Amino acid sequence: MAAASDPDAADWLGACRRSVTAIRGMLGDRPTIAERVRETGTRGEGGDRTLLIDEAAEDVVFAELDALYAGGARFTAVSEERGVVDFGSTDVQVIIDPIDGSTNAKRGLPHYALSVAVAHGGTMADVVFGFVQDFGPREEWVAWRGRGAQLDGIRLDPSLGERRTRDGKLEVIGVESADPRWVMRSADAMAETAHRMRAIGAIAVSLCQVAAARFDAMASLRRCRAVDAAAAQLIVREAGGLVSFIAYDDPLAAPLDLEPHSPVIAARTEEGLVAAATLPLWPE
Ligand SMILES: [Mg+2]
Repeated sequence: MAAASDPDAADWLGACRRSVTAIRGMLGDRPTIAERVRETGTRGEGGDRTLLIDEAAEDVVFAELDALYAGGARFTAVSEERGVVDFGSTDVQVIIDPIDGSTNAKRGLPHYALSVAVAHGGTMADVVFGFVQDFGPREEWVAWRGRGAQLDGIRLDPSLGERRTRDGKLEVIGVESADPRWVMRSADAMAETAHRMRAIGAIAVSLCQVAAARFDAMASLRRCRAVDAAAAQLIVREAGGLVSFIAYDDPLAAPLDLEPHSPVIAARTEEGLVAAATLPLWPE
Protein backbone atom coordinates (compact mmCIF):
# COMPACT_ATOMS: atom_id res chain seq x y z
CA MET A 1 0.00 0.00 0.00
CA ALA A 2 1.26 3.46 -0.85
CA ALA A 3 2.54 5.62 1.97
CA ALA A 4 0.68 8.84 2.65
CA SER A 5 3.62 10.83 1.27
CA ASP A 6 3.76 8.79 -1.95
CA PRO A 7 2.65 11.07 -4.81
CA ASP A 8 0.67 8.16 -6.24
CA ALA A 9 -1.38 8.10 -3.04
CA ALA A 10 -3.01 11.44 -3.82
CA ASP A 11 -5.29 12.21 -6.74
CA TRP A 12 -3.12 14.98 -8.16
CA LEU A 13 -4.69 14.82 -11.61
CA GLY A 14 -8.20 15.04 -10.20
CA ALA A 15 -7.24 18.00 -8.03
CA CYS A 16 -5.73 19.75 -11.06
CA ARG A 17 -8.81 19.15 -13.20
CA ARG A 18 -11.16 20.41 -10.51
CA SER A 19 -8.96 23.50 -10.16
CA VAL A 20 -9.20 24.13 -13.90
CA THR A 21 -12.99 24.07 -13.79
CA ALA A 22 -13.08 26.47 -10.85
CA ILE A 23 -10.48 28.86 -12.32
CA ARG A 24 -12.35 28.92 -15.63
CA GLY A 25 -15.50 29.85 -13.74
CA MET A 26 -13.67 32.52 -11.76
CA LEU A 27 -12.33 34.10 -14.95
CA GLY A 28 -15.72 33.78 -16.62
CA ASP A 29 -17.09 35.99 -13.85
CA ARG A 30 -14.42 38.60 -14.70
CA PRO A 31 -14.52 38.77 -18.50
CA THR A 32 -13.30 42.34 -19.07
CA ILE A 33 -9.82 43.78 -19.02
CA ALA A 34 -10.99 46.36 -16.46
CA GLU A 35 -11.82 43.55 -14.03
CA ARG A 36 -8.73 41.47 -14.75
CA VAL A 37 -6.12 44.23 -14.42
CA ARG A 38 -6.97 44.88 -10.78
CA GLU A 39 -4.05 44.28 -8.46
CA THR A 40 -4.01 43.18 -4.84
CA GLY A 41 -1.46 45.89 -4.03
CA THR A 42 1.16 43.34 -3.01
CA ARG A 43 3.86 41.30 -4.71
CA GLY A 44 3.86 37.52 -4.67
CA GLU A 45 6.68 35.49 -3.18
CA GLY A 46 7.95 35.20 -6.76
CA GLY A 47 8.33 39.00 -6.94
CA ASP A 48 5.68 39.98 -9.51
CA ARG A 49 2.77 42.30 -8.73
CA THR A 50 -0.17 40.13 -7.76
CA LEU A 51 -3.40 40.46 -9.71
CA LEU A 52 -6.70 39.66 -8.05
CA ILE A 53 -7.12 36.88 -10.62
CA ASP A 54 -3.74 35.39 -9.60
CA GLU A 55 -4.83 35.39 -5.97
CA ALA A 56 -8.27 33.96 -6.75
CA ALA A 57 -6.75 31.19 -8.89
CA GLU A 58 -4.31 30.33 -6.13
CA ASP A 59 -7.18 30.17 -3.62
CA VAL A 60 -8.86 27.62 -5.89
CA VAL A 61 -5.76 25.41 -6.01
CA PHE A 62 -5.18 25.64 -2.27
CA ALA A 63 -8.75 24.58 -1.59
CA GLU A 64 -7.94 21.40 -3.53
CA LEU A 65 -4.65 20.97 -1.62
CA ASP A 66 -6.55 21.34 1.66
CA ALA A 67 -8.89 18.56 0.53
CA LEU A 68 -5.96 16.27 -0.39
CA TYR A 69 -4.42 16.96 3.01
CA ALA A 70 -7.72 16.13 4.72
CA GLY A 71 -7.68 12.87 2.74
CA GLY A 72 -4.26 11.94 4.14
CA ALA A 73 -1.75 13.37 1.64
CA ARG A 74 1.32 15.05 3.15
CA PHE A 75 3.52 17.44 1.17
CA THR A 76 5.01 20.94 0.90
CA ALA A 77 3.48 23.43 -1.53
CA VAL A 78 5.65 25.99 -3.35
CA SER A 79 3.36 28.51 -5.02
CA GLU A 80 3.94 31.76 -6.88
CA GLU A 81 2.01 34.08 -4.59
CA ARG A 82 1.87 32.35 -1.19
CA GLY A 83 5.38 30.93 -1.29
CA VAL A 84 6.25 27.79 0.70
CA VAL A 85 3.34 26.25 2.62
CA ASP A 86 3.75 23.22 4.89
CA PHE A 87 1.23 20.42 4.46
CA GLY A 88 3.00 18.00 6.80
CA SER A 89 5.94 16.55 4.84
CA THR A 90 9.00 17.76 2.97
CA ASP A 91 9.31 14.43 1.10
CA VAL A 92 6.87 15.55 -1.59
CA GLN A 93 6.95 19.00 -3.20
CA VAL A 94 4.02 20.48 -5.11
CA ILE A 95 5.12 23.34 -7.35
CA ILE A 96 2.29 25.64 -8.45
CA ASP A 97 1.85 28.55 -10.81
CA PRO A 98 -1.87 29.31 -10.54
CA ILE A 99 -1.71 31.43 -13.70
CA ASP A 100 1.39 31.29 -15.90
CA GLY A 101 1.03 34.12 -18.38
CA SER A 102 -0.89 36.54 -16.14
CA THR A 103 -0.40 39.38 -18.60
CA ASN A 104 -2.15 37.36 -21.29
CA ALA A 105 -4.93 36.47 -18.85
CA LYS A 106 -5.52 40.07 -17.87
CA ARG A 107 -5.44 41.33 -21.47
CA GLY A 108 -7.66 38.55 -22.83
CA LEU A 109 -4.90 37.04 -24.96
CA PRO A 110 -5.43 33.31 -25.47
CA HIS A 111 -2.47 31.54 -23.85
CA TYR A 112 -2.34 31.35 -20.06
CA ALA A 113 -2.06 28.26 -17.94
CA LEU A 114 -2.35 26.49 -14.64
CA SER A 115 0.92 24.66 -13.98
CA VAL A 116 1.28 22.03 -11.24
CA ALA A 117 4.26 19.72 -10.68
CA VAL A 118 4.74 17.04 -8.02
CA ALA A 119 8.30 16.07 -7.08
CA HIS A 120 10.02 13.49 -4.89
CA GLY A 121 12.98 15.77 -4.23
CA GLY A 122 14.30 19.27 -4.62
CA THR A 123 15.26 19.61 -8.30
CA MET A 124 13.73 19.46 -11.77
CA ALA A 125 15.03 15.90 -12.16
CA ASP A 126 12.85 14.87 -9.20
CA VAL A 127 9.54 15.87 -10.77
CA VAL A 128 7.28 12.82 -11.15
CA PHE A 129 4.03 14.44 -12.31
CA GLY A 130 3.43 17.47 -14.49
CA PHE A 131 0.12 19.15 -15.38
CA VAL A 132 -0.40 22.19 -17.60
CA GLN A 133 -3.83 23.45 -18.64
CA ASP A 134 -3.68 26.08 -21.38
CA PHE A 135 -6.96 27.93 -20.86
CA GLY A 136 -7.09 29.59 -24.28
CA PRO A 137 -7.23 26.53 -26.55
CA ARG A 138 -8.44 24.39 -23.62
CA GLU A 139 -5.52 21.98 -23.94
CA GLU A 140 -4.55 19.65 -21.11
CA TRP A 141 -0.93 18.50 -21.00
CA VAL A 142 -0.05 15.72 -18.52
CA ALA A 143 3.04 13.60 -17.84
CA TRP A 144 4.08 11.04 -15.29
CA ARG A 145 7.78 10.25 -15.07
CA GLY A 146 8.58 7.11 -17.03
CA ARG A 147 5.05 6.83 -18.44
CA GLY A 148 5.08 9.33 -21.30
CA ALA A 149 3.15 12.54 -21.85
CA GLN A 150 -0.36 13.20 -23.12
CA LEU A 151 -2.20 16.04 -24.79
CA ASP A 152 -5.93 15.82 -24.08
CA GLY A 153 -5.51 12.15 -23.22
CA ILE A 154 -3.64 11.21 -26.39
CA ARG A 155 -0.03 10.13 -26.04
CA LEU A 156 2.51 12.52 -27.54
CA ASP A 157 4.84 10.89 -30.05
CA PRO A 158 8.34 10.82 -28.54
CA SER A 159 9.94 10.06 -31.92
CA LEU A 160 9.10 13.45 -33.45
CA GLY A 161 12.21 15.35 -34.50
CA GLU A 162 12.78 18.91 -35.61
CA ARG A 163 12.12 20.76 -38.86
CA ARG A 164 14.85 22.82 -40.48
CA THR A 165 14.75 25.09 -43.48
CA ARG A 166 17.08 24.46 -46.42
CA ASP A 167 19.65 26.83 -44.99
CA GLY A 168 19.78 24.73 -41.82
CA LYS A 169 17.76 26.97 -39.49
CA LEU A 170 15.16 25.65 -37.08
CA GLU A 171 11.80 26.39 -38.70
CA VAL A 172 9.98 27.81 -35.62
CA ILE A 173 11.30 28.59 -32.17
CA GLY A 174 9.54 29.97 -29.10
CA VAL A 175 11.00 32.88 -27.14
CA GLU A 176 10.00 33.70 -23.57
CA SER A 177 10.94 36.54 -21.22
CA ALA A 178 10.58 38.60 -24.38
CA ASP A 179 11.45 42.04 -23.06
CA PRO A 180 12.27 43.92 -26.28
CA ARG A 181 15.65 44.98 -24.87
CA TRP A 182 16.59 41.34 -24.33
CA VAL A 183 15.16 40.27 -27.68
CA MET A 184 17.34 42.91 -29.30
CA ARG A 185 20.44 41.56 -27.61
CA SER A 186 19.60 37.99 -28.68
CA ALA A 187 18.68 39.04 -32.20
CA ASP A 188 21.91 37.97 -33.89
CA ALA A 189 21.75 34.52 -32.29
CA MET A 190 18.10 34.20 -33.31
CA ALA A 191 18.92 35.12 -36.90
CA GLU A 192 21.61 32.43 -36.90
CA THR A 193 19.40 29.67 -35.51
CA ALA A 194 15.78 30.29 -36.43
CA HIS A 195 13.70 30.84 -39.56
CA ARG A 196 10.77 32.24 -37.53
CA MET A 197 10.16 33.03 -33.86
CA ARG A 198 7.01 33.14 -31.74
CA ALA A 199 6.56 34.72 -28.31
CA ILE A 200 3.55 33.18 -26.57
CA GLY A 201 4.08 34.85 -23.20
CA ALA A 202 3.81 31.83 -20.89
CA ILE A 203 6.88 29.67 -20.26
CA ALA A 204 4.86 26.54 -19.42
CA VAL A 205 2.82 26.85 -22.61
CA SER A 206 5.89 27.53 -24.73
CA LEU A 207 7.58 24.39 -23.35
CA CYS A 208 4.46 22.34 -24.12
CA GLN A 209 4.68 23.43 -27.77
CA VAL A 210 8.10 21.72 -27.88
CA ALA A 211 6.53 18.63 -26.31
CA ALA A 212 4.17 18.39 -29.30
CA ALA A 213 6.95 19.37 -31.76
CA ARG A 214 4.96 22.48 -32.77
CA PHE A 215 8.07 24.43 -31.85
CA ASP A 216 11.43 22.98 -32.84
CA ALA A 217 12.94 24.63 -29.77
CA MET A 218 12.27 27.29 -27.14
CA ALA A 219 14.35 29.48 -24.86
CA SER A 220 13.66 31.89 -22.03
CA LEU A 221 15.98 34.83 -22.57
CA ARG A 222 16.47 35.34 -18.85
CA ARG A 223 16.28 33.25 -15.70
CA CYS A 224 12.94 31.57 -15.06
CA ARG A 225 11.45 30.36 -11.82
CA ALA A 226 10.61 26.77 -10.95
CA VAL A 227 6.89 27.56 -10.74
CA ASP A 228 6.92 28.45 -14.46
CA ALA A 229 8.82 25.42 -15.74
CA ALA A 230 8.67 22.48 -13.31
CA ALA A 231 5.60 20.76 -14.77
CA ALA A 232 6.18 21.49 -18.45
CA GLN A 233 9.84 20.42 -18.42
CA LEU A 234 8.73 16.91 -17.45
CA ILE A 235 6.06 17.00 -20.16
CA VAL A 236 8.71 17.89 -22.77
CA ARG A 237 11.08 15.13 -21.63
CA GLU A 238 8.36 12.48 -21.44
CA ALA A 239 7.33 13.53 -24.96
CA GLY A 240 10.81 12.78 -26.28
CA GLY A 241 12.24 16.29 -26.11
CA LEU A 242 15.29 17.65 -24.31
CA VAL A 243 15.40 20.31 -21.57
CA SER A 244 18.28 22.19 -20.01
CA PHE A 245 18.53 24.76 -17.23
CA ILE A 246 21.72 26.15 -18.62
CA ALA A 247 23.11 27.75 -15.46
CA TYR A 248 23.81 24.24 -14.15
CA ASP A 249 26.35 21.65 -15.31
CA ASP A 250 23.67 19.03 -14.68
CA PRO A 251 20.86 20.32 -16.93
CA LEU A 252 18.06 19.31 -14.54
CA ALA A 253 19.72 20.47 -11.30
CA ALA A 254 17.69 23.69 -11.01
CA PRO A 255 16.05 23.79 -7.57
CA LEU A 256 12.30 23.77 -6.97
CA ASP A 257 12.09 27.03 -5.05
CA LEU A 258 10.86 30.56 -5.75
CA GLU A 259 14.08 32.19 -6.96
CA PRO A 260 14.84 32.73 -10.65
CA HIS A 261 18.00 30.64 -11.10
CA SER A 262 18.49 29.82 -14.75
CA PRO A 263 17.16 30.27 -18.25
CA VAL A 264 15.34 27.20 -19.53
CA ILE A 265 15.79 25.87 -23.05
CA ALA A 266 14.14 22.92 -24.78
CA ALA A 267 14.37 21.23 -28.16
CA ARG A 268 13.53 18.04 -30.03
CA THR A 269 17.17 17.04 -30.71
CA GLU A 270 20.65 17.51 -29.25
CA GLU A 271 21.53 19.78 -32.18
CA GLY A 272 18.43 21.87 -31.57
CA LEU A 273 19.32 22.19 -27.90
CA VAL A 274 22.79 23.42 -28.78
CA ALA A 275 21.21 26.05 -31.05
CA ALA A 276 18.71 27.12 -28.38
CA ALA A 277 21.53 27.52 -25.85
CA THR A 278 22.88 30.46 -27.84
CA LEU A 279 19.74 32.55 -27.23
CA PRO A 280 19.57 33.34 -23.47
CA LEU A 281 21.53 36.29 -22.11
CA TRP A 282 23.59 34.14 -19.82
CA PRO A 283 25.65 34.42 -17.70
CA GLU A 284 24.73 37.85 -16.42
MG1 LIG B 1 1.68 33.24 -12.36
